[in-house]
Amino acid sequence: MFEPLHTGVDREVGEHRHIVVTRSRIIVRADGDIESQSLRRHEAAAVLGRDPGDLLLGRLDDTHYWASHLDDDAELALPDDHHLSDLRSLHGRLSDDEWNIAGRATQLVDWVRDHRYCGRCGLETEPASNMRAMRCPACGLTSFPRLSPAVIVLIERDDGRCLLGRNGLWDIPMYSTLAGFVEPGETLEDTVHREVFEEVGVRVKNIRYFGSQPWPFPNSLMLGFVAAYEDGEITVDGEEVVDAQWFAPHELPMTPPTMSIAGQLIADWLERSG
Ligand SMILES: [Zn+2]
Repeated sequence: MFEPLHTGVDREVGEHRHIVVTRSRIIVRADGDIESQSLRRHEAAAVLGRDPGDLLLGRLDDTHYWASHLDDDAELALPDDHHLSDLRSLHGRLSDDEWNIAGRATQLVDWVRDHRYCGRCGLETEPASNMRAMRCPACGLTSFPRLSPAVIVLIERDDGRCLLGRNGLWDIPMYSTLAGFVEPGETLEDTVHREVFEEVGVRVKNIRYFGSQPWPFPNSLMLGFVAAYEDGEITVDGEEVVDAQWFAPHELPMTPPTMSIAGQLIADWLERSG
């Protein structure tokens, strides 16, 4: 289990690995078919041109993980066995643990990059000493790593069907559970009611929490729910959702893979449907 840490680790003691992030992507080392997102200190130093370890991420087993930012404008001169890769394409190529650590690295590096100056008074910020935050020494404004919570919901109906929608941005004929971002002031249940009604025009009840998944594209936290259909006819908004239908278990269209919480919600529904 990964333990997040932000201070208090002696980088001269124990095992350390380094993740180098640039342009929101990760420098990956390939050894034959085996890829790694984490570099040894000398490898990271060679890529960065300086000592690595800008941000402590935490510890997995006995290994400490650090993230470093290679300036986005820096010219890339990578060794032959290194390449730049984005998180999406690394999914399934790294282990789940490695991929999650890579997601933490890109989100934190990008957050620090984007919070170098105080959003209130414009002075340079500095890392807060006692927590993961950037703080303005002049006005005291403290900025925490940005997370955007979003709900994702599978709606089931008494006749054994579930409602899935097709997003207008997808260029494949895939249907999925409905999702949307939480607005300030909303409970998660409020968001489920609002998003479902906005996207497909139906009302739901009996909202039950299913599970959550960090989704670092760029900084979402997906909160999964199952809800029961209450009333209303499907009316899609035509923008976010271009089609939505009630599907029986034996007639499901193409759906997301189970790496995503959408795929897990659908797999769970199928299992419960027998
Ligand atoms: Zn300030």
